Amino acid sequence: MSCEHTQQLLDAYVDGELDVEKSLAIEQHLSACPACRKRHEARRWVRVAVQSQARYFTVPDPAVRRIQAHLDKAGGGGRTLPARWLSLAATAAIAALLGSGTTFWIGRTSSEDLLTQEAVANHSRSLMVAGRITDISSSDQHTVKPWFNGRVDFSPLVVDLTAQGFALVGGRLDYLDNHPVAALVYRHRQHLINLFVWPDDKSAAAPMRAFARHGYHVLHWSGGGMRYWAVSDLNPADLKAFGELLATQG
Ligand SMILES: [Zn+2]
Repeated sequence: MSCEHTQQLLDAYVDGELDVEKSLAIEQHLSACPACRKRHEARRWVRVAVQSQARYFTVPDPAVRRIQAHLDKAGGGGRTLPARWLSLAATAAIAALLGSGTTFWIGRTSSEDLLTQEAVANHSRSLMVAGRITDISSSDQHTVKPWFNGRVDFSPLVVDLTAQGFALVGGRLDYLDNHPVAALVYRHRQHLINLFVWPDDKSAAAPMRAFARHGYHVLHWSGGGMRYWAVSDLNPADLKAFGELLATQG
């Protein structure tokens, strides 16, 4: 992928709107091109800053109408400017007009979106690159668990769920959320599941949340001082059953 093409797709990439193939092509380009990597970091930073710091705005109604009219004019009725730029422009405009009246809600927690995107990219990369799915291939939890000693600074829970239909395939070292993480691989019928595990910096457990992204299903929760992110093309009900089995073991 060229620098020009990468830049055209960068916003959609940061927003998680690209399919797996394009996302991987962009990742590949970013890993080799410092200039585009710098642009990507800048976009990512803007997105995080906007979503984390600008969640609620209270704006008087006439101001909202003025902003909308201005954006309609600037965007030719909203057709020529991409929606994400309109929302960014609106955010900037609204941020400058704090008052009372209408309350705006902008986006979900961005860190969850970014992590979902990263976890799905790790999962699809592990499937696409030959020999990348496991560093240690074993269905024996007593072989897989000690393999992580010295490779990560925590001891992941490794359980064999073969009897419940989720066979342990092995383990792999991966990288997620700026941490080295343990990736445990399970198989349910022909579907592979990547379970990413790493220590939680919050003491309170977090309940299970499920998402779909790029045709994959994502389930995450935390408990016992660890975070768990599972990604698979498995149907959501079976993935949830898998998560609940693990959560009770933990
Ligand atoms: Zn480039």
